[in-house]
Amino acid sequence: MTRPSLLVLALGLLTLAAPMSAQRPMKVYISVDLEGISGVNSDNQTSAAGAEYGRARKLMVDDANAAIRGAFDGGATDVVVNDSHGSQRNLLPEDIDPRVKLISHSFKRYGMMEGLDSSFHAIIFVGYHAKAGSPRGVFAHTGSGVLADLQINGVSVGEGGMNAVLARWYGVPVVMVTGDDVAVEEQRVTVPDVRGVVVKRAINSRAVELRPLVETRREIQQAAKESVASARKSPPEHLAQYTVRMTFRDPTIPEVATAFREVRLVTPTTVEFTRDAMPDAYRLIRVLYRFINTD
Ligand SMILES: [Zn+2]
Repeated sequence: MTRPSLLVLALGLLTLAAPMSAQRPMKVYISVDLEGISGVNSDNQTSAAGAEYGRARKLMVDDANAAIRGAFDGGATDVVVNDSHGSQRNLLPEDIDPRVKLISHSFKRYGMMEGLDSSFHAIIFVGYHAKAGSPRGVFAHTGSGVLADLQINGVSVGEGGMNAVLARWYGVPVVMVTGDDVAVEEQRVTVPDVRGVVVKRAINSRAVELRPLVETRREIQQAAKESVASARKSPPEHLAQYTVRMTFRDPTIPEVATAFREVRLVTPTTVEFTRDAMPDAYRLIRVLYRFINTD
């Protein structure tokens, strides 16, 4: 064989080998809340002033890391983690899996879904909880303590539901959720085929039956691996409009909220507004429950 033909052969082999060694990019988005984390069930764990906050932070990052390991095992090439609880500065960069990018601080337009766009392939919710008004479900609430109910196009949703509607706008599937049994069941209203990992059974809004931590972490990792590996993107879902109805626990916020021209007062405690795009609706929902100060 002549030298040029050897070269041609070598180049040919390289071209053949290249697609097999190059990994297709696969972006996974993980939103991590705190109330539905393995082992968490007490008021003094959920905010920075609480005596057991440090413990809860550790529990939170351990569940998050299990999901991250699973996502990479399942083929993820990029993982973005969004800290989604309270101050949204709970996960410490020094404790989280060093392969991820971490979105931190609550001053965000899209809160629990900040940074999501259509370039992602799969979404995982870690540590989610039941919606406001659930009679059972550890720390059942929606967004902040001020809401009694949230409806999007007539369907009552919690945080997992509202985030799933935004995910559909971008065509990115929510493949997995972890939390107590009520939170996981609730997620199935908006994402019927979601993979759920029940890390604890809610007895009421505080008392729980906790599963062993090693078991829940193992299960989170395995479920994340399998659900990321089998994730299939769907076309973005853009509904004709998004009508949002928010019922507050008291009339203070609704009264202030009517300062936004499109926000209509339906009852003294309920407001309604309509937006053409879900990301716009999401931003206004967040402003209304979080950024109106009634002190
Ligand atoms: Zn939450």
